[in-house]
Amino acid sequence: MANNVLVAVRVRPFSKREIDKRAQLIINMQGKMTLLFNPKDPKADPRKFTFDHSYWSHDEYKETSSGYLEPTGSKYTDQLKLYKDLGQGMLTNAWEGYNCSIFAYGQTGSGKSYSIMGYGANKGLVPQVGENLFKEISAKQNKDIEYQVTFSMLEIYNEKVKDLLSKKKAPSTGLQIRQSPQKGFYVVDLSEVPVGSFEDVKARMGEGNRNRTIGQTKMNETSSRAHTIVCLNFKQNRIREKVTKFCSINLVDLAGSENQRQTQAEGQRFTEAKYINLSLSTLGRVIEDLVKKKKYIPFSDSVLTRLLKNALGGNSKTTMIAAISPDAENYDQTLSTLRYADRAKSIKTSAKVNESETS
Ligand code: ADP
Ligand code: MG
Repeated sequence: MANNVLVAVRVRPFSKREIDKRAQLIINMQGKMTLLFNPKDPKADPRKFTFDHSYWSHDEYKETSSGYLEPTGSKYTDQLKLYKDLGQGMLTNAWEGYNCSIFAYGQTGSGKSYSIMGYGANKGLVPQVGENLFKEISAKQNKDIEYQVTFSMLEIYNEKVKDLLSKKKAPSTGLQIRQSPQKGFYVVDLSEVPVGSFEDVKARMGEGNRNRTIGQTKMNETSSRAHTIVCLNFKQNRIREKVTKFCSINLVDLAGSENQRQTQAEGQRFTEAKYINLSLSTLGRVIEDLVKKKKYIPFSDSVLTRLLKNALGGNSKTTMIAAISPDAENYDQTLSTLRYADRAKSIKTSAKVNESETS
C-alpha cells in the first residue's frame, strides 16, 4: 500500500545566546500549520506551510518588569509527545513486519539530535523506541514466539561509511555498500549486535557515540558534518504459525543542512562541505524527482541516498522531522528547511510486510 511520507516540523527554544541578544522570534504555529515571518518585512503576511504535525517546542517568553525574559511554556511539545505521535506508530508497524524510517533534517543547532537521540534525561526517539520495544516484548512473552533484536550504528563522513560498533580498525575507504534484491542497498560487514534489553540499547548508543570520527570535546562539530544512522532489526519467529516477521527500524540524524552551500571553507572543512553538499544535494534531487514521479531516481549518486533508498523510494513507512530555529538570524535556513519538508510531504513509499515461512 502506498503511504505518504509523514512530515513533522519542530521549533526549538531560544538558546541562552539568543535570549541574551534578544533574538527575534519569526515562527508561529497554528494547529498543523507553521507560519514563518520575514524579519526584513515583518508586516507582510507570513508564509504558511501545513504539515502532519507542527510542534511548538519553543518556550514562550514573557518580559518581566525587571527586563528579564521568563519562560511561560505551556504549549511546549516534549519528547514524550514526540514519541507518542511518531515513535509509537513506528513500533506498531514494526510488530506487523513493516520497515520504518525516520530522519531529521535541518541546520546545525536546530534540534535534530535532540529529537532523534536526545540528551541525558531528555530521551529522544532512539532510546524511547528501544525502551518501549523491550517493554512490549516482555508483555507479549510467549513460548510460541522467539524474538530477536539487533542494533547497528554507523556514520557517513566524507562519503565513507564507518561502523560505530566495530572494534576493528575501519578500512580507509570506508565499508562497502552492495545491493541485493531482498535487502536493497546494505553495508557489507556492518556489526549487528544482539540487544536483549533497553540497558543494552543505551550501552550501544553510548559506545557508538564514543566511536565517532572526531573526539567527544568536538562532538557537536563532528555531528554537524556527519550523518548518523541507528538501526534496530526486529525479528519475530512465530513457531506455531510457522512464520517469521522481520523489519528494520532506521533512525537517521542528518548532517547540518547549512553545509550544503558552504563553499568558502578550506582544507579539511572544504572536503567535508563538498561531501555533505554531495549527499544533501543528492537527497534534495532524489526528493524532487520522487515527487515528480520520474522514472530514474539518482539514489546511487551518494552513499546517504543509497542507504536511504528503502526509506524514500521503497519498502518502508517513513517520517521526516524538520528541525527549525526560532531566531530571525536563521530565516534563510529555516525557509529552506520548510521548503524541503514541504516537498517531502508528497513522496509516497510502498511498504509491505516482511515475512517468510519457516519450517
Ligand atoms: P542539531 O543536532 O540539529 O545540531 P541539537 O539537537 O544538538 O541540534 O540542538 C541544539 C541545542 O538546542 C541543544 O543544546 C539542545 O539541547 C537544544 N534543543 C534542541 N531542540 C530542543 C527542544 N525541542 N527542547 C529543548 N531544547 C532543545
Ligand atoms: Mg546534531
